[in-house]
Amino acid sequence: MAAHDPVEHKYVYDFAEGNKDLKDLLGGKGANLAEMTNLGLPVPPGFTITTEACKAYLTTGREPDGLAAQIEAHLESLEREMGRRLGDPDDPLLVSVRSGAKFSMPGMMETVLNVGLNDRSVVGLSNQAGGNDRFAWDSYRRLIQMFGKTVCEVPGEEFEHALDEIKRAKGTHNDLDLDADDLRGLVDAYKQIFAKHTGREFPQEPREQLDLAIRAVFDSWNAERAVLYRRQERIPADLGTAVNVVTMVFGNLGPDSGTGVAFTRDPGSGAQGIYGDYLANAQGEDVVAGIRNTVPLQELEQLDKTSYGQLLGIMARLEEHYKDLCDIEFTIERGKLWMLQTRVGKRTAAAAFVIAGQLVDEGLIDLDEALHRVNGAQLAQLMFPRFQLDHEFEPVAKGIGASPGAASGKVVFTSARAVELAAEGESVILVRRETNPDDLNGMIAAQGILTSRGGKTSHAAVVARGMGKTCVSGADELEVNVPAKKFTVGDHVVNEGDVVSIDGTTGKVYLGEVPVMPSEVVQYFEGELDPETIDDALVRAVHRIMTHADAARRLRVRTNADTGADAARARRFGAEGIGLCRTEHMFLGDRRELVERLILASGEREREDALAALLPLQRADFIEIFREMDGLPVTVRLIDPPLHEFLPPLEQLAVNVAVAQERGEDVAKEEALLAAVRRMHEENPMLGLRGVRLGLVIPGLFAMQVRAIAEAAVAVVRDGGTACPEIMVPLVGAVQELETVRAEAERIIAEVVGDSGVEVLIGTMIEVPRAALTAGQIAEAAEFFSFGTNDLTQMGWGFSRDDVEGAFFWRYLELGIFGISPFESIDTDGVGRLIRIAAEEGRAARPGLKLGVCGEHGGDPDSVHFFHEVGLDYVSCSPFRVPVARLEAGRAAITTTGSDSR
Ligand code: PEP
Ligand code: MG
Repeated sequence: MAAHDPVEHKYVYDFAEGNKDLKDLLGGKGANLAEMTNLGLPVPPGFTITTEACKAYLTTGREPDGLAAQIEAHLESLEREMGRRLGDPDDPLLVSVRSGAKFSMPGMMETVLNVGLNDRSVVGLSNQAGGNDRFAWDSYRRLIQMFGKTVCEVPGEEFEHALDEIKRAKGTHNDLDLDADDLRGLVDAYKQIFAKHTGREFPQEPREQLDLAIRAVFDSWNAERAVLYRRQERIPADLGTAVNVVTMVFGNLGPDSGTGVAFTRDPGSGAQGIYGDYLANAQGEDVVAGIRNTVPLQELEQLDKTSYGQLLGIMARLEEHYKDLCDIEFTIERGKLWMLQTRVGKRTAAAAFVIAGQLVDEGLIDLDEALHRVNGAQLAQLMFPRFQLDHEFEPVAKGIGASPGAASGKVVFTSARAVELAAEGESVILVRRETNPDDLNGMIAAQGILTSRGGKTSHAAVVARGMGKTCVSGADELEVNVPAKKFTVGDHVVNEGDVVSIDGTTGKVYLGEVPVMPSEVVQYFEGELDPETIDDALVRAVHRIMTHADAARRLRVRTNADTGADAARARRFGAEGIGLCRTEHMFLGDRRELVERLILASGEREREDALAALLPLQRADFIEIFREMDGLPVTVRLIDPPLHEFLPPLEQLAVNVAVAQERGEDVAKEEALLAAVRRMHEENPMLGLRGVRLGLVIPGLFAMQVRAIAEAAVAVVRDGGTACPEIMVPLVGAVQELETVRAEAERIIAEVVGDSGVEVLIGTMIEVPRAALTAGQIAEAAEFFSFGTNDLTQMGWGFSRDDVEGAFFWRYLELGIFGISPFESIDTDGVGRLIRIAAEEGRAARPGLKLGVCGEHGGDPDSVHFFHEVGLDYVSCSPFRVPVARLEAGRAAITTTGSDSR
């Protein structure tokens, strides 16, 4: 040890040296074992090898200098403390070698028990156990089995077959019927298996066993399942695991021994009480493996009153100390209780809110801490209806959980049929290969949307999330045949009218109806449940924490809404205005024909007529929205998508024209349409004639919209309301574009508003990288910026937002190029940097410039924290994500350090 710098290179900590805040270094398990040791709780002595040692090993492929010596020193002091030596033939010390990363990764990494047993110490163990040969040989065979499997990659089934073989020979199914001789025979069989697969004898040297086991735990950090789990849970890949070397205690020494797990509150509902399972005469792995049935923890009171009482005392103490729900693992060895693990326990979303509320009531934490203990993802989960009795049903397919929730209904394949059946009061599931904007009415009418293609940002996914509608996308086992009105999956054929159920959280698809229950949290947000009077711990806790979040947050929360109904709902959900009212949906349906007239207009007169016909319709749209958002700002975006999106697809039109010509029909109108579609065809429409470019090219289009907005505002004000319109120009890349639109808009606004008192702001989206980089110039012509992070991500990365997620993101995720799609959570380094630059330079040019975000990221929990940090004024998101954004904005405001609530 003397050769080491003790600060720089301390790789091993005795339990007495650590504490619960050293999770980065000692992992969760090690830090908490240390904490319990220092609380004076009965923890079997041991030490922890740090994550730094693991990282050094993983980088260089060998143990770092000094580690071996430090392990030796700590082992010697452990041996002194226990009065036993590792592997001593007469009175052996045995240890377990357990993984323990910063974040719990249940079952993903390795553990080896009974290290220190060999052909000689097995006799000593029997002596220690009062001549219990059976126990000693059982422990030895477990060591060879675990060591073989985890350290030397011997196939686990081989050991299992050998065990089955011995049981069969003995005529039993129960391990407990095997006696010491049987188990001695099993040890021989296991050793042969070990030698066959590894080409060497099972190591008899205890220190070698220990070193190899430690190395295996290090290596298990990179095991495939651990890598997958981390990706899923968004746990960084470079943390490494600590290794705990712990004195073995035995729960399998007879009826006065046993092992169990417990929670200090119900991790499912949050209800107070003792929840746990106990298994007498067993080791922890037996509980996990479910070999024998456990009993409820309360029954321990009858079996061992003293240990039970002591356990309850310790659990109360842990809760008070950790100020949170704890879960624990314990073992009783011949009437003596040992604590093997504790940690702040995982819980369901509902329990997270309920427990946070209870702990405030109990005076253990304050409201800031309660807010910190919950998160937006949990709230989002609580806002979706869910399936009851999910487990009774077997899914037939699994796609991408694109928009959470649970929905059952009759299958339909067209938007029109969805609308028809819904009008008859039926629940329907709209099934398509993929959806397009024409499916909107069907999507509104449907209970859920199921597609066989597309990822999380496909049209179906984005629109469904926007509407808070359940959606499973990319269920590629489905063969969807729209003309035949059926889909097949495996051997099943599902016809129009058959019932299916989809789970938008898990992506699972079920045949038949799975019962669904509504979310009481949504009922609360809708104002249908009064949190002051209702006897529902969850609703009361949500209310309390949301109220605190609202008081704490600096970011305002607006919504993306383009109908009065969405605006109204969002307002009930707490939206403080509209951050994005997309106007393109207002040009679909019946109005499509007017848009066609506009596009096909042969002269100024025809175009003006078409625009004049659209004007009152648009005005009515805006009046409805301004009324719903009375007194609150409403950002209306001028039309954005390429106009040909409003025309029939080229191929379909070409076929129709050819067929009609063949029949000798009059096709003059269709031919004109076809010519227009051909003329407007673009290779890269997303980079083509859209957004502000459209406004500059099609005379009168933006002017009509500006006039409709201004007239609507005036109409609302004349009726005694308050309208606060903000006109937003999309896809601006240069200040000159904005200046041109602005000059015309200002002229129209001045003409319309007169002395009505209506004030109209004019601003721009920042969604083209050039706009972000020239924000200082653009701010001269903009009263506000709203970051369109969907396009900014698309153009920042050069990723087609409609294609790439399904095409290759899986590979990028696999390679760790990013941990989550940048369309889902803002890429803070790249796209985020553009936002930072634009915010800083925009505000420098125009102090007080209003800044918001209206891309999908506005409702993403992690992104909300980033937008708070960058200093935006508001985020805008779909109505259903408004409460999530409120909560996260509150959390961002109280989170001063980078601590996490995982
Ligand atoms: C955006 O690009 O982020 C945005 C909000 O606009 P849209 O999604 O309509 O392109
Ligand atoms: Mg955009």
